[in-house]
Amino acid sequence: MSNSADFDILVVGGGLVGSAAALGLSQQGWRVGLVESQPGESLDAEIPPAAAVDDFDPRVSALSLASQSLLEQLGAWDGVRKGRHCPYQAMTVWDGDGTGRIQFEAAELQAPSLGTIVENRAVVKSLFLQLAESSVELIDGVKVAGWWQDAALSGVRLDDGRSLAASLVVAADGPASRLRQWAGLPTREWDYDQQAIVCTVKTTHGHRSTAWQRFSQTGPLAFLPLCNEQGDSHFCSIVWSQDTAEARRLMDLDDGAFAGELERAIERELGAVESVSRRFAFPLRQRHAKDYVANGIALVGDAAHSIHPLAGQGANLGYSDVRALLEELSRAKTVGLSPADATVLARYQRRRKGENLAMMAAMSGFKQLFARDELPVRWLRNTGLRWFDRLGPVKHRIAAQAMGLNR
Ligand SMILES: Cc1cc2nc3c(=O)[nH]c(=O)nc-3n(C[C@H](O)[C@H](O)[C@H](O)COP(=O)(O)OP(=O)(O)OC[C@H]3O[C@@H](n4cnc5c(N)ncnc54)[C@H](O)[C@@H]3O)c2cc1C
Repeated sequence: MSNSADFDILVVGGGLVGSAAALGLSQQGWRVGLVESQPGESLDAEIPPAAAVDDFDPRVSALSLASQSLLEQLGAWDGVRKGRHCPYQAMTVWDGDGTGRIQFEAAELQAPSLGTIVENRAVVKSLFLQLAESSVELIDGVKVAGWWQDAALSGVRLDDGRSLAASLVVAADGPASRLRQWAGLPTREWDYDQQAIVCTVKTTHGHRSTAWQRFSQTGPLAFLPLCNEQGDSHFCSIVWSQDTAEARRLMDLDDGAFAGELERAIERELGAVESVSRRFAFPLRQRHAKDYVANGIALVGDAAHSIHPLAGQGANLGYSDVRALLEELSRAKTVGLSPADATVLARYQRRRKGENLAMMAAMSGFKQLFARDELPVRWLRNTGLRWFDRLGPVKHRIAAQAMGLNR
């Protein structure tokens, strides 16, 4: 423990969400520290041009326009925009067990795009370049090994023996957040008994700047469009969520057999799958912290909530947390309150919990709807999708919500 604070705010976790939070908070004039277990130098290497499937980062995100605008405000979007990124103009969603189909178009919404597919490492790299120019003290290559809290301060113990104290600790240490556990913030959890297989593929037909998503009983398959430096539109990042046993079977296939299964699963919308990168499988678990805040600590991003990737909203929800936290802490600074003031933290929690819960409930409902095989459910699903596709204004409102346009 300590009698004096090293920082006003200490952010733990320099992933997509924590690095954005640390940057934004320092721009407001708070004294900020950021602890990240990975060494910063791991981001120094130049991102090589992409000529083949293995040149892309297997982890990508479909960033909404609202997330892009947060990154712009932080000064980090320019770095992402100058590298590979792929704005998509349309999204096609269909039921693999029927005939229902929905098509969303950016033009119908008078938007420049529905969102942009970015490689996670490029976003984190751009945020770290801005952090290097900021007043944030980066404590990298070292793990947080404990958390403590007293009447005035809270802080962390690092695994190299150091202890750091701050008025507020922001936990952005991901879905298995140790800080959430040490602070005694319980979660509600659902194991989907599914895994998401992630990799990059090259197809014989171009992706037409469209995000493709096919639902089936065993889970959704998404083809997210990627662009390389030459504007080649034949690369996609895939996220294939499957029941665990099926995911294991697919992971065990050789590349040729996997490409064949993938091609059939996406109904050859993009022609043949020519090549497949190394595959990764992520177990899918939905988690939601019952409270996002406690004395001296606030959770953001996956530390507060992790969600099924079927709508690609995890990072977007995390960036919405960051925006709300920045607004509340800016207000606190203006009126001279501590960043750990209980009313400030309660306002942050109130603003974020409802939206995150609603999105998680929608994803679970969607997943269950498509997991059912009974004829009446299939009929309802297909009729519903066709009917929804014709419902211009309602469809547009929902799409705008997902893009973060009407906040
Ligand atoms: C298969 C898949 C596909 C997805 N696709 C999308 C998509 O298309 N769009 C989208 O919006 N979201 C998507 N997501 C979700 C998105 O990736 C996450 O929501 C996002 O990465 C969460 O960011 P984060 O910064 O909160 O956590 P993380 O990215 O997990 O970052 C946590 C950071 O904390 C550090 N850390 C952890 N513990 C410690 C410690 N003890 N000490 C110090 N540092 C520590 C880690 O090194 C890491 O850098 C997807 C998720 C999956 C699994």
